[in-house]
Amino acid sequence: MLKSAPQKDTSFSAELDFIRKLFRKHGLKLTQQRLEILRAVRESGDHPSAEEVYRRVRPVLPTVSLDTVYRALMMFERIGAISRVEILDDRTRFESNTDPHHHLVCVVCRGIEDFPCPAADRIKPPAAGKWGKVLSNHLELRGVCRSCLAKQVGG
Ligand SMILES: [Zn+2]
Ligand SMILES: [Zn+2]
Repeated sequence: MLKSAPQKDTSFSAELDFIRKLFRKHGLKLTQQRLEILRAVRESGDHPSAEEVYRRVRPVLPTVSLDTVYRALMMFERIGAISRVEILDDRTRFESNTDPHHHLVCVVCRGIEDFPCPAADRIKPPAAGKWGKVLSNHLELRGVCRSCLAKQVGG
């Protein structure tokens, strides 16, 4: 059980109930360590790599290893607490958004933004069955984000 309830962020506190139920359903213990790692992904709403999550939890979990963080993230993904973003040729990233959505990827800063597209969610593979089995449907639009564009223009 949790020794001290986090007070910093109200939105994450509101999610705690859902998180607790999810862990219980899978027979997993929600330790303080797991909670902090999960918070580092869910609170920000961005798409951090395992290394970035590791950097974020170091102040509160000074003895944690990158390997432990990585294994925890993979476990959270398995139970549906976060999702894994596979951007080709980049390292694995994680995010709190577990609903179907798509991504805008900046090729300069490697920033990722969520991009809802209901039309794309309904795409049916043309040769479904013949080709094989589709495991995920994810659009990845690549380009240069606004802040990187501004830097290019500015100098
Ligand atoms: Zn950018
Ligand atoms: Zn996303």
